[in-house]
Amino acid sequence: MPMPGPEVIESHELRERMVRKRHAIDLMELSFAEDAALFAAKGDYDELGYVSGIDWIRFNCHMTSGTAADRVAVGDSMHRMPRSIEAVGQGEIGLAHVTVMARAAATLKDRFDERPLLEYARDNSPGKLHFFCRHARHVVDPQGYSAEEAEQAQNRRLSLSSWIDGTMVLSGVLDAFGGAALRSALEPLARSSGEGDHREREQRLADALVELAAGRARTNLQVTSSVETLLGLAGASAADMEFSLPISARMVERLACDSGVTRVLLDSESTVIDVGRSKRVVSGPARRALNARDGSCRWPGCDRPPSWSAAHHVTHWIHGGSSDLDNLILLCHRHHWMVHEGKWQLVRSDDGRMLAIPPTVRFGPPARAPD
Ligand SMILES: [Zn+2]
Ligand SMILES: [Zn+2]
Repeated sequence: MPMPGPEVIESHELRERMVRKRHAIDLMELSFAEDAALFAAKGDYDELGYVSGIDWIRFNCHMTSGTAADRVAVGDSMHRMPRSIEAVGQGEIGLAHVTVMARAAATLKDRFDERPLLEYARDNSPGKLHFFCRHARHVVDPQGYSAEEAEQAQNRRLSLSSWIDGTMVLSGVLDAFGGAALRSALEPLARSSGEGDHREREQRLADALVELAAGRARTNLQVTSSVETLLGLAGASAADMEFSLPISARMVERLACDSGVTRVLLDSESTVIDVGRSKRVVSGPARRALNARDGSCRWPGCDRPPSWSAAHHVTHWIHGGSSDLDNLILLCHRHHWMVHEGKWQLVRSDDGRMLAIPPTVRFGPPARAPD
């Protein structure tokens, strides 16, 4: 008697069957998400010996903590996106879409509006929806968005430990911008050099890092921003940067300060100008004059050389500041960040010295309680 062979099925039947199964799974997942949120809210997991509802679910439902947290988030936000839940029922979008939307809903709460997101989700992948949600968040809450970025930046870590043979082990964490900046710098150098290059990607990246450190490479970030975003106008979307999540108006202001922004969209028709090649770029004789005048970063006590510094516009060109020498000072990259995103102020004292004034710290509750 012949052994049963593999099932014979036409490709199109197989595809249809998979779509049907995934839809059924998504419906079950929605139902699970509802229960998961209910359980997490009940709070009796600690009597059972678990630190959180997610922890109990992770262990007893055999899931990773990330997936368990995603389900709880969806369950928690269902009431904010009834149309989207309905769309999952109709098979128009999937659980992955509402998971992305749930994260946005959890942050924006009453300011969350599912309609534009749902419209976008119908024709786009969950990955693209994630980017779209980031833009939507920036429109509603540019300050919160920027504060989150700044917090990420403060949590950068890199440890370099040397072994006895001189080998170095690197490990660390970068914020979204830092990671994107590093990748932008490394990717061109990490490309396979063609025939005969049998290095794995990890090896090529390591080689690229060394080359970069040795000073043979220069970063060139691809940033696209609208003028509205640069001006920090209410309702402006975030800017886009290669390898990165959308970035805030504050960050783009700094990048544009020294023409790190390579493209700015001029108007609603999205006409593109190339800022990098416009007259705002401080290069050639103008940059040499600035380097000679300042000698190093102008931050009090900092002596980073001009080659590690940016030409900071004291009055930003987007606000009408000129690129003449008297409106420019050299700031190293860290101090440039502190002036733009860190909100420090640099002022010239009567005797010509620069003074750095830290951002005002406010104590007590915020003017308007968060919802
Ligand atoms: Zn600047
Ligand atoms: Zn400095």
